[in-house]
Amino acid sequence: MSKRKKNALKHLRKTHGWIALAIFMFASAATLMILTFFFKTFSDYLVESKLSSEYDAISYMSKIYEAEKDGYRLYNQKLLNEAGRDYVVRDSLGNYVAGSKNSTCPADGAEVELFSPNTMVKLYTDTRHPYISVDSRNDIDVDYMTVLRIFNANRDIMHKGTDSDSLFIISDIDPEISSVPGFLRASTTAMCRLPVWIGVNIKNGSEVFLGKAYLIINLSDFLVISALALIMVLLLFLIFIFLVISVINSIRSQRHAKKLFFTDMTTGGHNRIWFMLNGEKILKKKRNAPFKYALANMVFVQYQTFCVTHSIADGEVLLKKIYEVIDKSLNKKEICAHSTPSSFSILLRVFDEEGLRVRLNELITKLESIDEGHSFSFRAGVDVIDVNRDRSGKIIKRKNIDFEREYNNASTAQLTLSDRNESGIAFFDNKLIDEQKWLDIVEENQRQALEKEEFLVYYQPKYDPVSNELKGAEALIRWNSPAFGFISPGRFIPIFEKNGFITEIDHYMLSHVAKDQKMWLDKGLKCVPVSVNISRAHFIESDLAEQIKDIVDAAGTPRELIELELTESAFFDDKDALIYTINRLKGYGFEVSMDDFGSGYSSLNSLKDMPLDVLKLDAEFFRGENVDGRSEIVVSETIKLAQSLEMKTVAEGVEAKETVDFLADQGCDMIQGFYFARPMPGSEFEQKMIEGIASIPE
Ligand code: C2E
Ligand code: CA
Ligand code: CA
Repeated sequence: MSKRKKNALKHLRKTHGWIALAIFMFASAATLMILTFFFKTFSDYLVESKLSSEYDAISYMSKIYEAEKDGYRLYNQKLLNEAGRDYVVRDSLGNYVAGSKNSTCPADGAEVELFSPNTMVKLYTDTRHPYISVDSRNDIDVDYMTVLRIFNANRDIMHKGTDSDSLFIISDIDPEISSVPGFLRASTTAMCRLPVWIGVNIKNGSEVFLGKAYLIINLSDFLVISALALIMVLLLFLIFIFLVISVINSIRSQRHAKKLFFTDMTTGGHNRIWFMLNGEKILKKKRNAPFKYALANMVFVQYQTFCVTHSIADGEVLLKKIYEVIDKSLNKKEICAHSTPSSFSILLRVFDEEGLRVRLNELITKLESIDEGHSFSFRAGVDVIDVNRDRSGKIIKRKNIDFEREYNNASTAQLTLSDRNESGIAFFDNKLIDEQKWLDIVEENQRQALEKEEFLVYYQPKYDPVSNELKGAEALIRWNSPAFGFISPGRFIPIFEKNGFITEIDHYMLSHVAKDQKMWLDKGLKCVPVSVNISRAHFIESDLAEQIKDIVDAAGTPRELIELELTESAFFDDKDALIYTINRLKGYGFEVSMDDFGSGYSSLNSLKDMPLDVLKLDAEFFRGENVDGRSEIVVSETIKLAQSLEMKTVAEGVEAKETVDFLADQGCDMIQGFYFARPMPGSEFEQKMIEGIASIPE
């Protein structure tokens, strides 16, 4: 899998709901913090506002006490008592000075920060109650003037009709006043009363007046707090619901994205990425260890031609059908995917290799007739994987299985079938890897080798079997590579034929042969026609004959000294194009021969249509046993046939004297074989031309 795809997949996995979950957690924490802050502020405010009025009362009481102490008869002890609050007065050393009867205020307190910052208070513990008492140092903003104002505001209740703006005026109030201001009285009807001692500095701080106050929570406070709490819980719940929905949505959309990532749009099935991930998982699973697996790469051979002759849409419908058939044929723990436009990947369990072959053949047979009216072919490259052992039989760890490599092996095996149009199955083995490596080397070096003239022309003479006279030669290529040594054409010509480089090679050979011939002519040697191989790949070029003529003419070589060999297989391609080119070549004065006659399919029919000059009998005729003289019959009849068609005959690959004698009897025109001479460099062939007659080893 490419790095880009791997990264995308990693990213897809990484985002798997975690982001949404993190947002959810963060939002919950933030909401909780906001709620806590809000509650704290609200409760502080509530407590402060509640205590503030209590402070007013205590402060007021302290003024009464102070006034009385100062000798004013503003309110007397009775008034303090009537307020219904305990009080204690202490001097600056904490010694008791005065107080109500059953005061439970303790001896000393500790200074702490109680409410909001900067509200320093002194705490006393009430000896009767488990609550704290508070000594506020005027931080709750109630000063002397405020006390006056409070007093004035409530004066009506105490004493109607008397104006007053100072405590001294208050001191004139009738001492017989019977009622105490309402706000001075401690409430007795509250839902909840927390006794709190509030201290007020009197006498310029030399004494502290401590009055028992109550933090009162009424039903209405309770309701407000409850309503607020409810709203907040609701809010939190809504946020929770919203976040849950968004988490679900995000997981859903991730799942959807993942599905798209692994789905093949054409067939609706799985794609290659999915196959690679899951295939690897299956192979690495412990419980699958007892099984062998086969990775098959199945190519639909006619896919592209089908799309051209029909339409891409029709082609895709066909692909979908093929996928369905493959998918249906699978057993448990077997998977498949549509991996490239024309290929499918399949991972099968293998019990024995023969069984696998049968299964694949059955599948291919089904697929061949998947569409009525058509007969398709499928090529399968198969890599059998033993999850416990490598190819040399060494025990391996399952976690080291390289599924990508196995996939490539199956593809490599499939490629060995690529030059055939019919269905087939090819199994991978290590030799294929070497071949693939060699192919890479050849393809990497071919152009440089051509430019550096590493390709050499060798000449193999053709002799008359009766007179032993030199009659001609065939030019055969050799690759003298400084890096890889001396390489015979069988190792690189098939590669060039597949990759198309053969056309340049043939031109190279033709031009070198033409130049050599011209050189030998100029030297005054008795030149013989030299045949040059022309690959079938050339025949798509409509001006092939002109190209050949131009190359030969450019060297200044007479055209009759160049012969062109076409392999038998070329005669199965576009016949009309072939006839057209042959006719033009002949028109220009070249001789044309059919190479390897009799090596493959019968090309008798071609002989009928093609105006060829030479028939080259394939070396196969002269190999193996001559059972009941049947081979000889075939050869002699073929030579007769050629003669009737006014064609010359050349016998290739002749190694034995008896064969030469036999061919001489049959009237074969030339022999090209090791018996007379092997292919040789131009300089050696020059010598053969000078000799003119074959030097046959005794
Ligand atoms: P080919 O065209 O059939 O060439 C004849 C092959 O038979 C040559 O192999 C030659 O060395 C071999 N041969 C000749 N006499 C004997 C014999 O008595 N015994 C045996 N065992 N072999 C004999 P070579 O040179 O290895 O070439 C192999 C093939 O490579 C050629 O088969 C031809 O198809 C291709 N080839 C060689 N040179 C060229 C070229 O320049 N262009 C093209 N297109 N193909 C070439
Ligand atoms: Ca040849
Ligand atoms: Ca040949």
